[in-house]
Amino acid sequence: MQKNILLLTLLFSVIIPLKAQKDYYFPGETFSSEIPSPYAYFGYHIGEWHTRYDRLVGYFEELAKTSDMAELHTIGHTNQLRPQVVLVISKNQNIQNLENIRTNHIKLADPKQPMPDVAKMPAIINLAYSVHGNEPSGGEAAILTAYWLLASQSDLAKEIRENAVILIDPAINPDGRDRHTNWANMHKGFPPVADPLDREHNEIWPSGRVNHYWFDLNRDWLPLAQVELQNKIAWYHTWYPNVVGDFHEMGTNSTYFFEPTKPFSSENPVVPRKNYEDINNKFATYFAKALDGIGSLYWTKEVFDNSYPGYGSTYPDIQGGLGLVFEQGSSRGHIQSSQRGDITFQFTIRNQLKISIATMEAGVKEREYMHRYLREFFQTGLNEAGKDRAKAYVFGDEFDESKNRLFLKLLLDHKIKVIENESNINVEGKSFKQGKSWIVPTSQAQYRMVRSMFEKVTTFADSVFYDASAWTMALAYGMPYAAQASVGSGAEVSSLPTQNQNFPADGKYVAYLVDWTDYFAPKFLHHIQKAGIHVETTALPFTSNTDQGPKEFPAGSLIIPTAFQKLSADEMKAAMKTAAEAAGQHVYATTTGFSTKGIDLGSNNISAVSQPKVLMLVGHGTSQNEAGEIWHLMDTKVGMPITKVDISLFGRVNLYDYNTLILPSGNYSSLSAAQITHLKDWLSRGGTVISLRSASQWLQSQEIVKEEYLKSENEKSPEFLPFGSRRDFAGAQAIGGSIYLAKLDKTHPLGFGYRNYELPVYRNSTLFFKPSKNPSNTPLRYTSNPLLGGYISPENLEKVKQSASVIVSTVGQGRVIHFIDNPNFRGTWFGTNKLFFNAVFFGDKM
Ligand SMILES: [Zn+2]
Repeated sequence: MQKNILLLTLLFSVIIPLKAQKDYYFPGETFSSEIPSPYAYFGYHIGEWHTRYDRLVGYFEELAKTSDMAELHTIGHTNQLRPQVVLVISKNQNIQNLENIRTNHIKLADPKQPMPDVAKMPAIINLAYSVHGNEPSGGEAAILTAYWLLASQSDLAKEIRENAVILIDPAINPDGRDRHTNWANMHKGFPPVADPLDREHNEIWPSGRVNHYWFDLNRDWLPLAQVELQNKIAWYHTWYPNVVGDFHEMGTNSTYFFEPTKPFSSENPVVPRKNYEDINNKFATYFAKALDGIGSLYWTKEVFDNSYPGYGSTYPDIQGGLGLVFEQGSSRGHIQSSQRGDITFQFTIRNQLKISIATMEAGVKEREYMHRYLREFFQTGLNEAGKDRAKAYVFGDEFDESKNRLFLKLLLDHKIKVIENESNINVEGKSFKQGKSWIVPTSQAQYRMVRSMFEKVTTFADSVFYDASAWTMALAYGMPYAAQASVGSGAEVSSLPTQNQNFPADGKYVAYLVDWTDYFAPKFLHHIQKAGIHVETTALPFTSNTDQGPKEFPAGSLIIPTAFQKLSADEMKAAMKTAAEAAGQHVYATTTGFSTKGIDLGSNNISAVSQPKVLMLVGHGTSQNEAGEIWHLMDTKVGMPITKVDISLFGRVNLYDYNTLILPSGNYSSLSAAQITHLKDWLSRGGTVISLRSASQWLQSQEIVKEEYLKSENEKSPEFLPFGSRRDFAGAQAIGGSIYLAKLDKTHPLGFGYRNYELPVYRNSTLFFKPSKNPSNTPLRYTSNPLLGGYISPENLEKVKQSASVIVSTVGQGRVIHFIDNPNFRGTWFGTNKLFFNAVFFGDKM
């Protein structure tokens, strides 16, 4: 007992005497004096402050300069231009020979190559920290791990340097990490304050968890919506590490978590059972030993999801390696009270350090086994592909070149083999045109990634999901595709097809015409509106004789008449050409307003497009992910500035300076009665509100709109529920994220630019709205058999069948466009983004 109390005091002691610091992290170890210690470099002991990212990189530069066993590689830059670095550590002979080691290692991922001699090959181990920027113990542990590995004289450090190449990524999310670092440091007290309510422990909005665009980078390994992960995945495929450690933090009252995760329910269906049942348990013994050695408690097997391929700990599992998620109970700040006493930053860093070392030790001891597994993974992928009835997937959108390019890029970034389609194919009522469609053979080393892109999964071992239960990327892109029983013999695609775009020759035209179907048409529209060009759009299709022959223009097509323009003909043409090039759009021109079919260009069904002036409410109470998705969409896909206003400043807003207000999901109860009156008045005089998910509930509660909900099954409890099963019951009724088929009214402005009546949508809430009482105001509703992929309880599936996905509520001269589902989810729902663009550009026509 006495001993236990002593141990606890040691573990949680608030301030560690400076002299004892080395003993705290590395008791009894000797270090080479040639390598600068963190204390010598930073001037403080690790854990006393949160280390700024530029200083962390500076230390790594210093290590690479002073040691011939380290090299610093820059793999890209973040949105805020911080370098993304990887510190490579191994014995000098390996560093000298690094390129040979790398090229030899990646042969393991290619079953066509002869098997290299694994006995001589070092383990490739990637330690990746702090993808969530406000989980900072990882980044600090990276500093200590690098120092230990280079300077320690211990046998273990020597063995690791001898038999492994260690790739240290100190912060996957440098921009978010610095946001939190500054927050924690600026509020540090002397003495530090452990009270969880202290400002130090409660960040403002947005938190350091997310990157520049408020994205969760630990969901982006599959979608690659963010530059950090685009850079990271490009780098990843140059190494195919055997082991990847992914270091996180969780709630302050928790201890430490390492894998195995919860069996079956949270595991990915394409990952070999061997990973979960054999390898994970092998590694777990090293982690247990490491934490037992310092008396730190931990847990395994209970929760944490390992199924969604966009996690940093799951993607490596689908690339022949072992991805490992680690979760440390957070001190979030320098010290914070917990149920077990005060948790210090040092304590959290030490656990991460010990697990980092244990990961390297396990990786080195299991080196040959992991090399053989890497080859076996890709070989068995090929074997399984042989048994798959689908021999290929054909895909391509005949009318949307930009979306095709985006999807092709995603496949190529994930090293999926794609070949040209050499014939016109009709299958399942869909047609795939030669030159506008491509084929993905299933028989390829990346077979398991091919499944993740195309397969729809609706049966599951369990009903509780921590996150998404569906991630079929072809559906997210709204990409027409079909399984094929044969492959074809087209050439392999090695780069994106060149973007064709035609622009009319000089001439005397009545109007220029642009089809709205292409994904980047809104970017073109924004650029010409910004240049001061008057633009119109059509509510009905027409066929026009253009400079490139007769062409049909569907509803939503843009008409730029040469009359009514303030710019000269030359100025206008120059501005349009620049916009067409920037957005990759085809521009047509016609010398007559008379259409060969459908309405003429002077029709009352053609109307002016007003330039959107958009304000989005953000800040405390609103969803930072959803707001970030909108900001990112408008920045990177349209190039249009939108004004982001903190809810607390809404009192200073004159809504009449804008025509569109975006309300992301969130809690708007802080708005005053006067502010709500202002909103109602502006709305009734013609304003457009675009509201997402729970924001619609708030509008309903304020009686700004009058739509009807369907109650979710959450509210219907069984008569008896064992206490121990309560979480599973709640989990089974939640909708973690799944994909549904909805029916689109293409005659509604919300449906402009869509060629299909049916559209996959993404839902991750149990908010169900009845279709509007006005029969024309539910432009998107679920079909009678809507589930395409993912888990949903049978009760909730019945509710979805009857419900609306988008409703438009008329409010005086204005309207509210309700998105019950998230059309911009994780920056990857290219298929439904156009609904959102339509709400922004054509909202006043709804
Ligand atoms: Zn995390």
